Amino acid sequence: MRKKIVAGNWKMNKNSEETAHLIAQLRTEIPQSDAEVIIAPTFVNLAEAATQLKGSFIEVAAQNMHFAENGAYTGEISADMLKSVGVRTVILGHSERRAYFGEDDALLAKKVDAALKAGMRIIFCFGEELDERKKGEHFKVVERQLKNALFHLDGPSWEHIVLAYEPVWAIGTGETASPEQAQEMHAFIRKTLSDGYNKQLAEEVPILYGGSVKPGNAGEIFSKADVDGGLIGGASLVAADFAAIVAAA
Ligand code: PGA
Repeated sequence: MRKKIVAGNWKMNKNSEETAHLIAQLRTEIPQSDAEVIIAPTFVNLAEAATQLKGSFIEVAAQNMHFAENGAYTGEISADMLKSVGVRTVILGHSERRAYFGEDDALLAKKVDAALKAGMRIIFCFGEELDERKKGEHFKVVERQLKNALFHLDGPSWEHIVLAYEPVWAIGTGETASPEQAQEMHAFIRKTLSDGYNKQLAEEVPILYGGSVKPGNAGEIFSKADVDGGLIGGASLVAADFAAIVAAA
C-alpha cells in the first residue's frame, strides 16, 4: 500500500513573519492523518521553517536546487546547503521552472543526479501544456519528460523519487484535470514505469496530482486508484484549505 502524500508548494509567497505564522496555523489546524505532509517555503525561510518544525509531523522541502556541489553560480543553492539546514526533500522540474527559467529535461537530469547523490528525496514535476493536450500529444510528452530526466536511474534510486503529474493548463488556473483524466494519466505513468523497469517498481513509486487542487475536489481526485496525493499551490497558502486537503487524503 502506497502512503498518501500532500505537499504544499508555496512558490514565491510568504515573508519570514508570514511563514512562521502559517506554519503555526498548520500545526494546529491539520488533523491527525496517515498522509505524509510536506511544505515548501521559499529558500530564505527554509532554515527557520525546518527549525520550527523539527520533530513535528510536517516536513520541509525546497522548491528547487542547483546541480553543482558549490562554486561560481551566483544566486543558486546546493543540495549540501539544503541538507545543512535540515531539508531532505526537493521539488524539481516544476512547470514554472521549466517555463520561466529555461529548465529542460537535460538540466533536470543533472539536478536529479545531484540530489540523489546528496541523499535527498525528489518530488519530480512534469506534465503537458494545453496545446499538447488539445493535439492529443499528452501521453507522448509525459513519456518524454519522464524518460529524459529519470530513466537513466537504476531501480533502487526510485525509492527516493516521488512523481508529481501537473498538467500545465491546470496550474493556478482554477481548472483541474477531472479525476478521470488524472487517473488515466497516472495509470499511463505507472505503465511507463513498468515497461521501463518492472511492475513492482511501478507499483511502489508514489504519483501525486497537482493543478488547482482545492478542498472541494481533493477527495475525489485522491480517491482514484493511481493517485497518491497532491502537490498543492494556491490552496497550500491558506491553513484551513490545506488542512482540509490533508483531511481528504
Ligand atoms: P495550484 O499549483 O494548486 O495553485 O494550481 C499547483 C502547483 O503549481 O504545484
